[in-house]
Order: sequence, then structure tokens, then C-alpha cells
Amino acid sequence: MTVVAIDGPAGAGKSTVARRVASALGYRHLDTGAMYRAVALAALERGLGPEQAASLEQLAADLDLAIEGDRVLVEGRDVSARVRQPDVTRAVSAYSAVPGVRAALVHRQRELAAQRDVVMEGRDIGTTVVPDAGIKIFLTASIRERALRRLADQGADDAPTRSELEASIAARDEADATRAASPFVRAPDAVVVDSTGKDVDDVVAELLLLIGERERR
Ligand code: C5P
Repeated sequence: MTVVAIDGPAGAGKSTVARRVASALGYRHLDTGAMYRAVALAALERGLGPEQAASLEQLAADLDLAIEGDRVLVEGRDVSARVRQPDVTRAVSAYSAVPGVRAALVHRQRELAAQRDVVMEGRDIGTTVVPDAGIKIFLTASIRERALRRLADQGADDAPTRSELEASIAARDEADATRAASPFVRAPDAVVVDSTGKDVDDVVAELLLLIGERERR
């Protein structure tokens, strides 16, 4: 099976790009961030705090969780929009730092990678989940641009300002990069693609070119 690993910080445009690349290649698209968000939501709903490591590990291992294209299903319930709400976004890094949660989800992700060709996006795909992935992309953008993109996605009247978004994105990057278990770092053999100032079509084309070059080797 072929795995295209796309890692990168919050708001770098991974999902949009990964979805388009997967569709161009005829591969499955798997958003592993959605899996961590689903576990965070289930934990919040059960009143479990990030310090309850044993219960969280069990939850992550046993939860009826399915990712179907862009849909996130928890116990058959479509939580695709719910897991993007601010309370889950604020909480997710604390839950994803729990080693047992990571072990359970990495196990599920490896099983999925063995089933069919996949474009997998996240924070630790190229370093931990599939270290022998055929190609590893590290997709990034300036913090200002990442905040502006998030702002454009939101549109609600009570949406945070750009500087509030920059602060919350920076806080999440920092939490993800400094956790003890499988911290968010760039794989040394990943190709860095900076999407600052580029439109989605150009980034998708760049990635498809890189993937094509790698396949010809
Ligand atoms: O990609 P997204 O922003 O939806 O990810 C949400 C959170 O899930 C990240 O901030 C990170 O804490 C966690 N995550 C992770 N490992 C991954 C994907 C996401 O720890 N492979």
C-alpha cells in the first residue's frame, strides 16, 4: 500500500490539500486530527479530564469511531461539525498528549494504512505512524496567513479577531510540539512546502508533482 504523509501545524491547509491530492490519485483521505478531535469530544461528554489517563486510553481503544470521507462518526452519530467547535479545539491538545490515547489511535491509523492507498494528514504521520511512507510532505504557512484562513472559514459574528486566532494557533502549536509523547516535529526526510501566498490549486499541483517524481525514482 502507498502512503502519502502530510504533516504540518494547525491551519496550514492540510485538509483541503490532502482531500484534493487524494481525489486526484484515487486514494483514501484520512484526517487523523479528526480522530483526536472525536476522542476529545467523547472525553468531554463523559466528563473525563486529561489527567484520567487510564480511562482515556480505554476510551480511545474502544470508542466506536469511523472516518468516512469528510464525515466523523462517533457511535453512529455524525459529529463532523461538532468536533470543529471551539471547546473541542481548545481541549484537543491536552487529550492528544496522553500516551495511551496516541497509542490507541496510532494503532487504528496503521490498520487503515494497511487497507488501501491513503493520503494521511496529521502531526506525526511521517515520524511515528508510517515512518516508511513513500513520500512525506511538511505543509506549513506563516502564522498570520494561517490565522487569516481560519478567520475566513468562520464568518460568525462572535468570531475571534485575527490576533486572538494567532494566539490560539500558536498555543496549540506549542502544546503539540512540546508534549512528551510523540511531539510534533518535522521528519528529517520530509519535503517542506510553504503555502504562504499560494492558492490551493498551486499547492495541490506542487504536491502532485513531488509525488510523481518520487514514484519515478
Ligand atoms: O489537524 P487538527 O488541527 O484537526 O488536529 C487537532 C489536534 O489533534 C492537534 O492540535 C493535535 O493536538 C492532535 N493531533 C495529533 N496527531 C495527529 C493529528 C492531530 O496529536 N496526527
